[in-house]
Amino acid sequence: MADDIIAVKPEIAAKARIDAARRDAMVTAEARDPEAFWRGEMSRIAWMKEPTKIKAVDFNGDVSIKWFEDGVLNASVSCLDRHLATRGDQVAIIWEGDDPNSDAKVTYRELHARVCKLANAMRRLGVKKGDRVCIYLPMIVEAAVAMLACARVGAIHSIVFGGFSPDSLSSRIQDSECTLLITADEGRRGGRKVPLKANADEALLTCPSIRHVVVAKNTGGNVEMMSGRDHWWDALTGGEAATCEPEPMGAEDPLFILYTSGSTGKPKGVLHTTGGYMVWASYTHQNVFDYRDGEIYWCTADVGWVTGHTYIVYGPLANGATTLMFEGVPSWPDNGRFWQVCAKHKVNIFYTAPTAIRALMRDGEGPVKKHDRSALRILGSVGEPINPEAWLWYYRVVGDERCPIVDTWWQTETGGILISPLPGAVAQKPGSATLPLPGVKPALVDNEGNLLDGATEGNLVLLDSWPGQMRTIYGDHARFGQTYFSTFKGMYFTGDGARRDADGYYWITGRVDDVINVAGHRMGTAEVESALVAHPAVAEAAVVGMPHEIKGQGIYAYVTLKAGVEATEVLRKELVAWVRKEIGPIATPDAIQWAPGLPKTRSGKIMRRILRKIAANETEGLGDTSTLADPGVVQELIDNKVG
Ligand code: ATP
Ligand code: MG
Repeated sequence: MADDIIAVKPEIAAKARIDAARRDAMVTAEARDPEAFWRGEMSRIAWMKEPTKIKAVDFNGDVSIKWFEDGVLNASVSCLDRHLATRGDQVAIIWEGDDPNSDAKVTYRELHARVCKLANAMRRLGVKKGDRVCIYLPMIVEAAVAMLACARVGAIHSIVFGGFSPDSLSSRIQDSECTLLITADEGRRGGRKVPLKANADEALLTCPSIRHVVVAKNTGGNVEMMSGRDHWWDALTGGEAATCEPEPMGAEDPLFILYTSGSTGKPKGVLHTTGGYMVWASYTHQNVFDYRDGEIYWCTADVGWVTGHTYIVYGPLANGATTLMFEGVPSWPDNGRFWQVCAKHKVNIFYTAPTAIRALMRDGEGPVKKHDRSALRILGSVGEPINPEAWLWYYRVVGDERCPIVDTWWQTETGGILISPLPGAVAQKPGSATLPLPGVKPALVDNEGNLLDGATEGNLVLLDSWPGQMRTIYGDHARFGQTYFSTFKGMYFTGDGARRDADGYYWITGRVDDVINVAGHRMGTAEVESALVAHPAVAEAAVVGMPHEIKGQGIYAYVTLKAGVEATEVLRKELVAWVRKEIGPIATPDAIQWAPGLPKTRSGKIMRRILRKIAANETEGLGDTSTLADPGVVQELIDNKVG
């Protein structure tokens, strides 16, 4: 099953921006003369002064990464001003509320005016180029406005996901010493209210750097306003002009800081700069999603994650797209919500995460089939390896076998997609992120850093830079070098493991820390999990290694069953036999624990390091769990540990 190949459909290739021949030509052109290739691509964004220097990168020593370094630009101009003449009245953002009866449309002209007003107000509050501004907002249009207003005045935004606690907010504000916080009275998610302003008030007790707070009125809920510090958004911006001089930014001036999702440890403050990031956001959004003028594009991520930065705001807006922003959750008011929204707004391109797909699979085809999805053209996945079973369900049920799936591998650190099919050029294999985009140079190395050839498995590295690469960890360049460039000399180490097949396709096998070594056989967790998920009773699975006297490591599996399936001894034995048959005796699970829920980050990724500790009976120091969505599941799993 995992070896299915889904060829590029001729009708898609015929109309695609990039077909196989064009992709080959791009790969060849970039290999022959990278500077010329990127000089060509840089004109996809607007420059105040065009760069003459293209690339200056050194992965050794202190590590220095610069792209387009003498160029001058402002990111908000690429996203707004330059579209006004040609598409000022086109919808830039479709906002769909948590409540299915609330939505809004904002044109490029309106968005430009709202951004300028806030930018003017920020300047009046004393915000200057280089200052850090924290954004703690729900998925409302103001989130995009706030990001672009920061860009307008040259402030560095640091978005903290609206689901985070006061403590998480406070530590992120302190880490980058933000002077302004932009928040809302309350957020809405799944019919419930989130007390953002109250959380912020608590966080700010320990944030002396914050001088002002801007509060958007969203629900109208009662909040306390501290006089002199807190300002209502509307009152603050109401009298401001609807135009605002954009701050001239060097290409290497910072655009934003964003903390990673914390799957593997304490979140890192990833810093992205302006020129290269914008080129990468535009290049990847346009090519990977084959975006065409007039299409409705929906990425279901939150702006609190990098996916929301690059593929809800900067990429789509740079490309003049209509981007949909969704305030709600896939399961509310019912689990057909995604497809109801697709039907309502005639969504053409839909981009979501495996965690959402697996959750929706649990409820079967009914909720999907109920809604018209005929406008859908391209489907995307990001965030974790997508199990072939989930991939095929997405393809057959959601896309009616009509829509190519782009499984996009990338990281907060990479700024945008690095490995992904191009829908008109690359045949897909369910479960594989397939091939690097033109200009991206992945490789696999062994633990000593030796390059591995051909079909093999190893540590995934990037041999050279791409414009969207992170430049440093905010305030800690030494940690940047240490984290990403010291494991393998002269290479960027992703922390992920991957397999490469005979066609050169990449299959991400999970974090290398999660690789299990059973009696000398190395195994990625993704493979065993996919085998379990392929069983009709299983909704989700997480696999980790556990200490084993004979084999060194044994396989410990946490399994969530589909709704209505009973957890029995017979089923447990059946699952063990099933994995033996699917992968082989070497992958036989030593323990299977029924897990009503799995510990996930707020962005929906399984936190295997916690599961590893539970399996090893090391529940004393679980490490940083501040990014967990539901800390309660951890105790449940500890209490019901097997063996
Ligand atoms: P932290 O770095 O703090 O541990 P994180 O790695 O979860 O958190 P992100 O930058 O949000 O933070 O996630 C990037 C990681 O997500 C990748 O390194 C990879 O492990 C996983 N990932 C993302 N997309 C894919 C994909 N399409 N296939 C497989 N894995 C993916
Ligand atoms: Mg990571």
